[in-house]
Order: sequence, then structure tokens, then C-alpha cells
Amino acid sequence: MDINIVGGGPGGLFISYLIKKRFPQWTVRVFEQNDAGATYGWGVVFSDVALSFLQKSDPAFFQRFTADHVHSDYMEIVHRGVHVPIHGNRFSRVARIALLQFLHVECRSAGVELLFNTRVDDLRALRQADLVVVADGVNSRIRTQHAQAFKPSFVQRRNKFAWYGTRKLFHAVSLIFRETEFGVFIAHSYQYSDQMSTFLIETDPETWARAGLGEMNDADSRIFCEKVFADDLDGNGLLSNKSTWFEALTVKNENWHHENMVLIGDALRSVHFSLGSGTRMAMEDSIALHEGLCAHTTDLAAAFGHFEASRRTASDRFQQAAAKSLDWYENVGDKRHLDPIAFTYDYMRRTGRVTHDDLRKRDPEFVRQYELLYGEAVN
Ligand SMILES: Cc1cc2nc3c(=O)[nH]c(=O)nc-3n(C[C@H](O)[C@H](O)[C@H](O)COP(=O)(O)OP(=O)(O)OC[C@H]3O[C@@H](n4cnc5c(N)ncnc54)[C@H](O)[C@@H]3O)c2cc1C
Repeated sequence: MDINIVGGGPGGLFISYLIKKRFPQWTVRVFEQNDAGATYGWGVVFSDVALSFLQKSDPAFFQRFTADHVHSDYMEIVHRGVHVPIHGNRFSRVARIALLQFLHVECRSAGVELLFNTRVDDLRALRQADLVVVADGVNSRIRTQHAQAFKPSFVQRRNKFAWYGTRKLFHAVSLIFRETEFGVFIAHSYQYSDQMSTFLIETDPETWARAGLGEMNDADSRIFCEKVFADDLDGNGLLSNKSTWFEALTVKNENWHHENMVLIGDALRSVHFSLGSGTRMAMEDSIALHEGLCAHTTDLAAAFGHFEASRRTASDRFQQAAAKSLDWYENVGDKRHLDPIAFTYDYMRRTGRVTHDDLRKRDPEFVRQYELLYGEAVN
């Protein structure tokens, strides 16, 4: 089979690796518009639960994949300057560029052709291949060009984000809420290497406008944010990687495939970074599509059917949970009156997927503190 893959993010690279490893006689090409050393943002985080799919599907690959990850076994909520640790949540973190470059090595050793600095503007020539995997991200150009076929729908979320890095090392995955005269600013921060942490800042559009961030250039925005989080950064600055303000776009598609094309990863469905699972979802798509191709090597329609059957329910459920999480962040101003324990409790239960008993299993001491103040909560 001859396979073209548009987009060399985690989704496009992982599917190409899986296919080429299993079917060395097939031709697998990845078209990536950027240079091999370029990426957006800083580090990404996975929960251990989120990565268990990889451990199950390929233990040896999992070992290599996580070898350089930074691990922690708790998170921390900072509200009114009080740090509330929550145990029983294990995370691994890695620089996004390190993750991509790891996948480049795996792909090359399997025999995938990686074509960098190769932007696909017109799919016509590529469609002569037997299979075209569309993995060109949340703003997928290919999906737009074939919108009639895929029928995408979009929800533009309201909060503003800027993705910075910093040399201050946040060992725990830390969610820091800082109140200012303009409103609440949130930092999602975690160490992802021995020298660096991600520092993703979020705020609602009203706070953003009142603070004058709409009129500031990128450098002044960064300096403003350094001041908001001065107590947390301990004298460290924020570092920019084209860190301009943006809003999250939630995408889903009515049709996941069309003729010989199939969507995966963010091009198929985006999940919000407040649940830190977009990379994982893209990789799970790759595994399911690969399994479909293994089960139906000569029948593309059946392979696509297998892929969709194994992913659609999980994908929809995850987007619903992500939407609840987003609602929580977008309305965090209403929670400001809560003391740090109640605030943390409310945060932990925001998606409706974690019960009081789940929380007790994860961190009995935290639940004991909560119950001392508020009694036993309803599951
Ligand atoms: C602020 C932020 C924080 C995040 N944090 C996390 C996190 O902590 N954990 C997590 O799991 N996920 C996180 N994510 C989500 C994660 O980055 C995405 O879900 C994941 O990268 C999706 O992988 P993908 O391969 O589908 O798409 P992408 O990673 O977007 O890759 C698409 C690739 O296609 C290329 N491309 C686009 N158009 C073309 C074209 N026309 N021709 C050729 N190439 C093209 C792009 O250059 C890009 O390399 C975060 C996202 C953001 C924005």
C-alpha cells in the first residue's frame, strides 16, 4: 500500500511509525510544513492513567517513550496564596519538541519517509495514494477544503491563553489562581525537563480587556504576566515561543473519513488542554486506525469502520468532560469566595467523573480535611 500522511505532529508521526513497523513493504510518507527542529509551545503533560493505553499496546515502545519524562505523583492547587497538594495523581511531562524528535527517530528507524519543510496546499497529487491520513492539526487546511465531506463543527471558547515557559521548576502539576484588581489569572505550570517548566496563562476576556492586554504588544503582555505571578516565579522570568494570546477552538466532525481520506488527532477532534490529553487522543487514534488496517489489509472502508467504532464513543465522552472542565475555568470568578480546601474540592470534581469516594481513594488526608470542614459530601 502507498500511504501519504499530512502533518508531522504526534498523531501523524505515531500512525506512520505503527504502519511502517507492521508493514515494512508499504510506502509511508509524512508531509510536514515545518522544520524538524520547530514546534509551538513548551512542555506537555500526561497523566499515568492517560498513558496506560500505550503501556498496554506496546510495552517496549512505552519504555523508550517515557525514558526521559519528568514524573511527579501529586498536583497542587494554589488559591489565595495557599498551596493545597492533592496526592494520588501521577503525571509524566516532556518537552513537546523532545517528544516529536523521539518520534522522528522511531519513524526513521522503521523506514518512514519524513518530508520536512513540505507544506501541502493542494491534496490532489497526494490523493493518488491508496490511503491519505489527515493529521494536520486543529486548524486543518485539508478538512476545510473537504468540509462538505467531513462536515466539521466548531465551538470557539471564550477564555484567553498565552503559552510561556519558565526556568522556575514546578515539581508538582500546579494550578495557580491569582486575583488582581482586573480579575482572576490562572497559571497551569509543571516542570518538563531538568531546567524548564511550562507556564500556560489563562484568563477570561473581561479580565484580559480590563488589564489592557488587548492593547499591549507581546513583550509588554509577558512583563505584565510576570508581575501577576511574581510570588510564584521567585524572580524567574517568562520565556516566549511566539507566545501570543489565543482562544481554544473545539472541533468535531460528523464524518471521520471520506473516500481514501481519514482524519485523526486534533484535525478530527480537539480536546482542551485543561485536561491535558490532546496528544494522548491523537496517539490513541493512531493505534485504533493501525488496528483497523491490520484487521482489514485490503478493505479500506472496513478499516475506517473499525477505527471509528473503537474511537467515537470515547472521543465524544472525552469532549463532554472537557466541556465541563472548560465551563469551570470560564466561571472561576464565581468560586473565589471558597476557602482553599473547598475550592480544590470543587476543582477536582468539576467534570463529574470523579466521585467523593474516588477522591478519598486518591488522597484520604485531603478528604479528611474537607470532611472536617464540610462533613461527608454526596457522591
Ligand atoms: C496551549 C496548549 C497546551 C497543550 N498541552 C497539552 C498537554 O499538556 N498534554 C497533551 O496531551 N496535549 C496538550 N496539548 C494538545 C496537543 O498539543 C495536541 O492535541 C496534539 O499536538 C495533537 O496532535 P496532532 O498530531 O493531531 O496535531 P498537531 O500536533 O497540531 O500537528 C499537526 C502538524 O501538522 C502540520 N501541518 C499543518 N498544516 C499542514 C500542511 N498544510 N502541510 C503540512 N503540514 C501541516 C503542523 O505543522 C503540525 O506539525 C496542548 C495544546 C495547546 C495549544
